[in-house]
Amino acid sequence: MGGGAPVSVQSMTTTPTCDIDATLQQIAELTATGCDIVRVAVPSQDDADALPAIAAKSPIPVIADIHFQPRYVFAAIDAGCAAVRVNPGNIKKFDDKVAEIARAAEAAGIPIRIGVNAGSLDPRLLAKHGRATPEALVESALWECSLFEEHGFRDLKISVKHHDPLVMIAAYRLLAQRCDYPLHLGVTEAGPLLQGTVKSAVAFGILLGEGIGDTIRVSLSAPPVDEVKVGTQILASLGLRPRKLEIVSCPSCGRAQVDVYTLAAKVEAAFDGFPHPLRVAVMGCVVNGPGEAREADLGVSCGNGKGQIFVKGQVVKTVPEHQIVDTLLAHALELTDTSDRE
Ligand code: SF4
Repeated sequence: MGGGAPVSVQSMTTTPTCDIDATLQQIAELTATGCDIVRVAVPSQDDADALPAIAAKSPIPVIADIHFQPRYVFAAIDAGCAAVRVNPGNIKKFDDKVAEIARAAEAAGIPIRIGVNAGSLDPRLLAKHGRATPEALVESALWECSLFEEHGFRDLKISVKHHDPLVMIAAYRLLAQRCDYPLHLGVTEAGPLLQGTVKSAVAFGILLGEGIGDTIRVSLSAPPVDEVKVGTQILASLGLRPRKLEIVSCPSCGRAQVDVYTLAAKVEAAFDGFPHPLRVAVMGCVVNGPGEAREADLGVSCGNGKGQIFVKGQVVKTVPEHQIVDTLLAHALELTDTSDRE
């Protein structure tokens, strides 16, 4: 992570971590969706006890997310977790084991993520800045870093999350000016699927476009698989991850001669999990239909209850509306089978 490595997508499991089977099952689903790194919450001893099995069997690196309890940090390091998210300020308040944690992480060769969130900002900084301003978030993060740096530990990555994309963007810009640590991007508590997707896409698009950010997490009030789908699509849209399936479908209008929404949804469902990169155009009429369909790998331009099917820019056939989806899928398989053999 960082130093020119590809930007990675993270998510967090929602199962109780102590339920090892359920957690591993969810990690498998996240991995299959494109998740690169997964975080698990460790709020109890039972959860800490589950970490060795989860870290050993997870196909992707596991980060233990810990608040307040140094003994869970040591357990996570011993368990073989790839990193620990912990804010040393919390630990210092209760039981100053920061030096010991620094030594243990150093010996295990694992990084620590310091995660500052607007909602849990240190009261001292809230009082100083009046609210969770970009300056307050950055001051908090750099102070947390200094607690490790004074013990010579610098294998850190940082997040400064806020629910408002504008505050979050300003905070990360400031942080990027003030330190060289890898940055984990997140709009925290971004909201339900649509709102959270828009907020995250806007914020990540701006920051990643400026070269700021090494990992992302789309925080949604929705299943974590959706977070990963959105995160991978954001990176694909920015050209930071190869595109898989891309559906170019028109918004429909008064000229449409087919129910474009339903047809596009059916095409999306039929191609869900299709393993090859492919652009499929679904167009409602002949105004822009042939042009877009010709530019895509596969396409359909609809009219009069029929669909003109395009493959690599050429019209190959015209089929009745109810055969459009199956015909596109059959040609997709043929097309990718041929390219596999080449
Ligand atoms: Fe309207 Fe046709 Fe354009 Fe779709 S392709 S938006 S139906 S003009």
